[in-house]
Amino acid sequence: MVKPIIIGNWKMNGLTQEADHIVSSLLAYAEKNKDLAPTVICPPFTQLYHIGKHLKNTPFELGAQDCHVAEKGAYTGNISAAMLNDIGVKYVILGHSERRSEYKESNALINQKATAAQNANILPVVCIGETKEERESGQYKEVLAEQLKGSLPEHFVGLVAYEPIWAIGTGVTATNEEIAEVILFIREKLVAQYGENGKKTLILYGGSVKPNNVKDIFATSELGGVLVGGVSLIPEDFLQLLTIA
Ligand code: 13P
Repeated sequence: MVKPIIIGNWKMNGLTQEADHIVSSLLAYAEKNKDLAPTVICPPFTQLYHIGKHLKNTPFELGAQDCHVAEKGAYTGNISAAMLNDIGVKYVILGHSERRSEYKESNALINQKATAAQNANILPVVCIGETKEERESGQYKEVLAEQLKGSLPEHFVGLVAYEPIWAIGTGVTATNEEIAEVILFIREKLVAQYGENGKKTLILYGGSVKPNNVKDIFATSELGGVLVGGVSLIPEDFLQLLTIA
């Protein structure tokens, strides 16, 4: 059986001492456990180069949490996908709900960022997810369909992460049925849009994934992996996810 991919999103966390502690715990674990699930660590920009050096020639891949649409230029404060590729980044999380809400990132912008990532040989992990109100009103499928249609480029080579906003950092996890229903829905949309390629795209779940619920989550049919926030900062807990995968 193919192991699910596990992506750890550190968000805006991780000073050097903490980052070193997490990374050394992961590397020690990998020394003893050879058959690891594919695992991606997405630290903040400030730690990428440093951590990337430690992860070289290990089973762990490096991911970033955002990129700019342009390759280079006068965009003060931004980081391009080419810059990420230059330091060994293989994945980039795009359209996370925290960026959609805080920076009003539109589907069109996320689409452009995904294209920029692909052009730089980086796999975009495009996040979609509905609010609590949208779920409760029963509109969530329309919202998800619109996010998918708008955020994914015409030629998409990446991953899709379903992160219901009401489950992020709340301790409330979507039920297996809720996850399974949405994964199937996303799959149908991907196949309708991309044909054979849409069948292969990994679809992840994110939102309060923890050692005590991950086994059930992994059992969801068609689930390609998980996108983990809080727990990715706690080495003992994060390593448990790798053990269970
Ligand atoms: P939590 O796992 O902390 O709920 O965060 C999920 C998330 O936003 C990952 O991108």
